[in-house]
Amino acid sequence: MDLIVKNGRVVWPDVTLEVDLAIDDGKIAGIGHAGAFPKADRFIDAAGKFVVPGGVDPHTHIHAPFMGATAKDDFDTGTMAAAIGGTTTVIDFAFQQKGKLPMDAIEARRKEADGKVVIDYALHSNLVAASDEAIAQIPRIIADGIPSFKFFMVYRKEELMIDDGNLIPLIEVINNNGGLAGCHTENVAIIEHLQAEAIRKGNRSPIYHALTRPPLNEAEALNRALFISKYLGAAFYDYHLSVKEGVDLVREARREGRPVYCETTTHYLTLTEDMLKRPDGLNFICSPPLRSREHIEALWQGLADGTISAVASDQAAFTLEHKRMGKDSFDKVPNGLPGMEFRVPILFSEGVQKGRISINRMAAVTSTNVAKIFGLYPKKGAIQVGSDADLVIIDPKAEKKITIDDCPYKIDWSPFDGMKLQGSPVMTISKGKVVAENGKFVGKAGAGEFVKAKISEEILKRPAA
Ligand SMILES: [Zn+2]
Repeated sequence: MDLIVKNGRVVWPDVTLEVDLAIDDGKIAGIGHAGAFPKADRFIDAAGKFVVPGGVDPHTHIHAPFMGATAKDDFDTGTMAAAIGGTTTVIDFAFQQKGKLPMDAIEARRKEADGKVVIDYALHSNLVAASDEAIAQIPRIIADGIPSFKFFMVYRKEELMIDDGNLIPLIEVINNNGGLAGCHTENVAIIEHLQAEAIRKGNRSPIYHALTRPPLNEAEALNRALFISKYLGAAFYDYHLSVKEGVDLVREARREGRPVYCETTTHYLTLTEDMLKRPDGLNFICSPPLRSREHIEALWQGLADGTISAVASDQAAFTLEHKRMGKDSFDKVPNGLPGMEFRVPILFSEGVQKGRISINRMAAVTSTNVAKIFGLYPKKGAIQVGSDADLVIIDPKAEKKITIDDCPYKIDWSPFDGMKLQGSPVMTISKGKVVAENGKFVGKAGAGEFVKAKISEEILKRPAA
């Protein structure tokens, strides 16, 4: 054996057991008692700590261009930060460029990431134009290991939007070929109407970003997407849900037995729209916007009761300088927040330690469910013999205050700056190798690989995660 992790409390979505784990050749090779395993080269003592499945982040935009800025991280530094924070797989986006086809975007993204990533990654395909040629590529994209898709129901002026007329054939083709369609759900007409009115009245401060994207605008678009997918008999994934009305819609759809899934993000679970009223409010602009406390409580409730399947970071590492592009008007600020390195730590500290979710539920929403929904399971998200040895060791006693000092991608701010963490990942193991220890990256650039995904029939037929 290469490695034995012993004396830890090993966490699965349904149970926690004090067992030892043997790791060989990058895979989990044994679950039981260290004395019964063959001799190992290295022992890690996890006494007093939790051993959870390595995090799978379903939604990152590493080094992605948006609204005239390009995110500060790169596939090496970004995945280093993810690893430090207990994530061992990221699912990023291959973003179709205007005038090009979705497969061109996939090829370009693979070139950017391969050889740089320090942990494994997978991709979603993000289509922004539904030409016949683009639609014709979908079966091949799914067969090549990218079975999940994202569409914007907003950003008309930015020419990224897919309207309902195009959404229907896209979801249909994806569903017919074993893929999973999903949307960024906001109602473009409401937003454009309110933004024009705000700007006409000279209301350009950051809080107007939230006031022009009210909760019902998101709920309406989600409701529409849910009805469209119901009409088509298709599975559906809602990216970054932020409102309580949406939690209710998803809860009802799943109660009907429909294969509907949604994620929320670390920032929607912790930060309120009041951040937008601060002097540095423009930094907190993201879409959907931050919401009020009642939405935060509904999201935690949805996470706890099984309505919300996953927690993403929606990493978009725009710097203070990028954000200042919109200092005169909220609609010019690049949308998005950095912080994928804090996803697992915040879920543990704010969720488990504050009694909102169990450690088992945390394992499900940060890892196992994500791997299941997006077709990476049981290679990823599982502590099983034969699965990749992707593990995170969390010390519930480690106290930490969030700072940006050690961030590998050298970002100059964090939306979570100053947040106190009770408990934190102290070691991350990716494919049997220790890649991060006590907040420092100790792995190798290029050690990660692209992972092909295939979504199970079960996930596409019923709410199975
Ligand atoms: Zn996003």
